[in-house]
Amino acid sequence: MSASRSAALAARDLAVVWHPCTQMHDHETLPMLPIERAEGVWLHGCDGRRWIDAVSSWWTNVLGHRHPRIVAALKDQLDRLDHVMLAGFTHEPAVALAEALVRVAPPGLARVFYADNGSSAVEVALKLSFHYWRNLGRGMRTRFVALNGSYHGETLGALSVTDVALYRRTYAPLLLEPFLVPPPDGSTRRPGESAEAETARCLDALREVLERHGESICALIVEPLVQCAGGMRMYPPAYLAGARALCDAHGVHLIADEIATGFGRTGTLFACEQAGIAPDLMCVSKGLTGGTLPLAAVLATEAIYAAFYAEHASGKAFLHSHSYTGNPLACRAACATLAIFEDEPVLERNRALAAHLAEQLAALAGHRHVAGIRQTGMIAALDLVRADGTPFAPGERRGLRVYRHGLDHGVVLRPLGDVIYFMPPYVITPEEIDRVVAVAAAGIERAAAD
Ligand code: PMP
Repeated sequence: MSASRSAALAARDLAVVWHPCTQMHDHETLPMLPIERAEGVWLHGCDGRRWIDAVSSWWTNVLGHRHPRIVAALKDQLDRLDHVMLAGFTHEPAVALAEALVRVAPPGLARVFYADNGSSAVEVALKLSFHYWRNLGRGMRTRFVALNGSYHGETLGALSVTDVALYRRTYAPLLLEPFLVPPPDGSTRRPGESAEAETARCLDALREVLERHGESICALIVEPLVQCAGGMRMYPPAYLAGARALCDAHGVHLIADEIATGFGRTGTLFACEQAGIAPDLMCVSKGLTGGTLPLAAVLATEAIYAAFYAEHASGKAFLHSHSYTGNPLACRAACATLAIFEDEPVLERNRALAAHLAEQLAALAGHRHVAGIRQTGMIAALDLVRADGTPFAPGERRGLRVYRHGLDHGVVLRPLGDVIYFMPPYVITPEEIDRVVAVAAAGIERAAAD
C-alpha cells in the first residue's frame, strides 16, 4: 500500500472510529498509524514503514505476531467449528484448554470459567467470591481489598478495585469502595528501612484491615509481583506469600489477577509461582491466546465450585454469561499457545533475554533524566524525571514525546505517563533489544529537553 492510501485509511478511520484510551482530539496533531500486517516483533505500516512492537500490543502478544503454530491451529479450527454457545454444549478446544490450564496452574485450581476479556474475568472473579460467601450463608461479606496503585480493568466492577485516578476518578460515584492497602514497591519506603522491613510493614497494614473488617470482606485482589497499568510498580514474592497466609488466617479469598503477568512475563509461567502460593481464584487473559484473539478464563478451586453445585431449586448456580464464552477459535489459539510453552524452551530463552535487557538498561542508570530502573522478567521500566530527580508536571506530557520519538525511529514505546517501559514479545532478539533501548534513550534526551 502506498503512503497516500495509508493516509486515506487514516482519514476514513478518524471520520468514524472512536479509539480506546484516547483523547481523539490528540489526533489533530498525532498521526493515526494504519497497520497492514505483522510478523514476529514487527508491525508493518500501510505506508511501508515498520516498528518493533516493544509493548506487545498492550501486553497481549507474548510469542510474536502470527506465530506459525497458532496460525495453523486457527486455520484448522476455522474449517471445523466457528462458534457454539457454551451453555448445554461443549467442544474439544474448550475442554482441552481447561485441562491444559488446570495442569499448568498453581495447585488446587481445578475449575475453569471462560470470559472474553480481562475486565470480564475480573468481574467473574469478584462475583464468584461474593456469591460463594452468600451460598454459604455469609451474604454480609460485600467488601474487597485491593492494593494502592492497582489496575484490574475498566468495567464498573473491575474499576471498583482499580486505584489509578486517571481511570477511576470520573466514575467514582458509580463504584464500590474497596479497602486499599500499600504494596511494598519501594514508593513508601522510609529512610533507612530495608526492603524486608517494608514488606513486613505492608503486611501489617493488610493484617490490620483483615482483623478489623474480615467478616465483611470477600477477597483480596492483587496483581502478583507487578502492578502494570498503575506504573509498573514491582514488589517482592514475600509479600504475596504473607498475603496468602493472612487471607487463610482470616478466611478471605485471594484473587490473583495474572492477566498481565501470566504466560511467562515475569520469568515463571505465572507470577504466583515465585511466591510458592496458589490463589483461590486466578484471572488470565492477554497472553492466553498468544495475542491473537480475545479470551479470558477464571480458574477456581474445587471448594468454590462445590459451593455452587446443588439442586436447581437451591438458586445457588452462577448464572453469569457472555455470548462468546469459550469461543472455539479463541480456545484453539490458546491451546496452541500453551503447547508452545510446553514444547519449546520459551521460559529459558526469556531468562537470557531478560538478562540482556537488564544489561542494556544498566547503561542508563546514571542518566540525569532516568530514575527508578526496575525489572521483573520480561517487564522493565524506568521513570523519566527532571535533571534534579523530581517528576515533570503531568500536563507537560513528556512521555508522549518519547512515544513520538519511538514512532519516528521504528519502535513502539507507549509510556504510562512518564513511566517508560519495555514489554516485548519473547521472540525479540538481543540486537532488537539494543535497538529498542537505544531509541528509548534518545527519546528520553529529546523528551527532557525544553
Ligand atoms: N487486569 C490487569 C492486570 C490488566 O493489566 C488489564 C489490562 N491492561 C486488565 C485486567 C483488563 O483487561 P482487558 O483490557 O482485557 O479488559
